[in-house]
Amino acid sequence: MSLLSIPAVALDLDAGNEENSRDFAPVAGMKVTIVGSGDAFSSGGRAHTCIRIDAATTTVVVDFGSGAMTAWQKLGFDFNNIDAIVVSHLHGDHFGGIPALLLHAQFVAERRRPLLLIGPPGLKVRLQEMLDLFFPGSSAVAWNYAWQVREIGGGRKIAVSGLTLETFDVIHSPGSMPTGIRLSDGKHIFAYSGDTAWTETLNDIAADADLFLCECSSGDEPVPNHLHWPLLKGKLKGFSAKRIAITHMGPSAIAKIPEMQAAGLIVANDGLSLEL
Ligand SMILES: [Zn+2]
Repeated sequence: MSLLSIPAVALDLDAGNEENSRDFAPVAGMKVTIVGSGDAFSSGGRAHTCIRIDAATTTVVVDFGSGAMTAWQKLGFDFNNIDAIVVSHLHGDHFGGIPALLLHAQFVAERRRPLLLIGPPGLKVRLQEMLDLFFPGSSAVAWNYAWQVREIGGGRKIAVSGLTLETFDVIHSPGSMPTGIRLSDGKHIFAYSGDTAWTETLNDIAADADLFLCECSSGDEPVPNHLHWPLLKGKLKGFSAKRIAITHMGPSAIAKIPEMQAAGLIVANDGLSLEL
C-alpha cells in the first residue's frame, strides 16, 4: 500500500472520544508489562525497550523502541489501547518504533482519538525527520488523528492521562537528552532508570517505588553512559523501592542473571507482567 495514495482526511479533533477496546482485564492498581527488555543491540533476542503501564483508566507506554511494533503484537496487544507514550531519551532503541506506530494508527488501526507523545526537547523534530527517513513523504500525511508532542526535560512533574509523571536528569549520551522516570496513580509508583551511568539521582527515582526498573548493560566491565553489575550490586542497599527489576542487559549482564536473582532482584524478560 502506498502511504500517499490514501485520500487526505481533515483532522477532526472532536472525534477523540470513542471508547478504546481494552485488551486486558481491568486492573485495580497498576500493572506493568515489560514488552521489550533488550539493549540497543537486542542482545539475547530481547526486543528494544518498551514498557506498558495499565492503570484503572488509562494505558501509558514508557519508551517504544525500534522493535516494539513486533514485541507488542507478539503479546496480543492492541495499539489502539495506548493513550500516551513517554520517551525517556532520544535513542533509537527507546523511541525508534514510533514512526511505524503513527502510520499504523493512520492507515491500519484507523485511530481517531489523539495520541499524546511526551519526551525530551527535540522529540517532535526528530519524529518528523524519522518519518521522512524511514517512509519518505510520510511527514506530509494529512493525519486522521492528532498526535501531539509535549516536550519536557528533567526535573518536571506533570499530569499525563490521569497519572503523575516525574522526570529526572540522568547521565547518558548528552545528545539523547536522557531522563529517568516515575509514574504514579496516586497509590502506586513505577520508577525507571532510563539509560544512565551511576548517579545518586537513581536513589531519588527509586525512592519508595512499588517497582524500580533499572538498566544494567554490562555484567562485568564498565561501559560508558551505562550501569555495570559489579557497581550496581554495591548500590542496591541505597534503593528503597519495594521491588527492583533489571533490564537493558548486554551479553555479559545476561550471563549474570543467576547472580542477580540470588541478590533478590527480578530480571525482566519480554512479556513479564507485574502487578503493583
Ligand atoms: Zn540510550
